Amino acid sequence: MIIVMKPGAEPRNIKAVLSFVEKNGLQTHLSRGEEVTIIGIVGDKSKLPTENLISFKDVDHVVPVTESYKLANKKFHPEPTAVKAGSTSVGPGTMTIMAGPCAVESEEQLMTIARAVKKSGASFLRGGAYKPRTSPYSFQGLEAEGLRYMQEAARETGLATICEVVSQEAIEAASKYVDMIQIGARNMQNFILLKEAGRSGMPVLLKRGLCATIDEWLNAAEYIIAEGNPNVVLCERGIRTFETATRNTLDLSAVPVLKEKTHLPVIVDPSHSTGAYKYVPPMAKAAVASGADGLMIEVHDNPSCALSDGPQSLTFENFDRLTGELAPFCELAGRPLIK
Ligand code: PEP
Ligand code: MN
Repeated sequence: MIIVMKPGAEPRNIKAVLSFVEKNGLQTHLSRGEEVTIIGIVGDKSKLPTENLISFKDVDHVVPVTESYKLANKKFHPEPTAVKAGSTSVGPGTMTIMAGPCAVESEEQLMTIARAVKKSGASFLRGGAYKPRTSPYSFQGLEAEGLRYMQEAARETGLATICEVVSQEAIEAASKYVDMIQIGARNMQNFILLKEAGRSGMPVLLKRGLCATIDEWLNAAEYIIAEGNPNVVLCERGIRTFETATRNTLDLSAVPVLKEKTHLPVIVDPSHSTGAYKYVPPMAKAAVASGADGLMIEVHDNPSCALSDGPQSLTFENFDRLTGELAPFCELAGRPLIK
């Protein structure tokens, strides 16, 4: 449930409500808006009669929150959240572009790609060091060595970095070398991993599971936030449907739905959702129109020789053209590209 305080509520009256709730064994989460302060409550509500709460000074009203996710809920936190990573941040009011190879393949390859995406306007370098591939015989990533190359690329270019993690050891290693960790679609409901990501305190990009509903996805985000880590960005990357013309079906309607339900930033991945480089530009533009706070795009120096996801990777030339075309779209949407 949430307690909405009256506009201009006195700090000592807010404090009185907080200590009453906490004395009853429930957790409080304070959200101070420009005018109104909201107190979110998590725990066993049966311990806390609503009649008692509304009798407190400066309490305006009490609203039940029926959704199972609370901390990710917009009712708990009406202002949009900005998630900081490195020297940049994701959302609100700006467009973040994360770009780079599907997998880190070598130091030279990563440095070449990092320089190119930086020049074309990306603010994050993406690159997989741990690759959970559909086949166990496909390239599985350079692991810790790949992470070190990511750090090197960040040092040279100033880009923020993001890398997928698949285990507790990977989280520990990644927190030393990159600015944000990514939980991939295949691990969206790996609850142990979500809790570990929460405990790490690192900013987390949480991709939507292949068959996950929006509510399941928000509950996955709740697992991370419930560990005391509010730095979560959601990434729509396409879902499984009967359609086979594209690798997955990009559910762009998820963006406005999420904007209604949560305060967390939302980005879109037009690469893994379409699986084809030629569909990436139109879906990237559509993502801007849908209200996304950013894009994650795969870029490779030589897509036909990529060790993974070559067919959906943009060449440097295609990526540069796309960011050039996106800039006026982003301006028009009121969320200029972060450089
Ligand atoms: C990726 O971003 O490299 C990736 C594997 O994506 P997803 O988890 O969305 O399939
Ligand atoms: Mn990929």
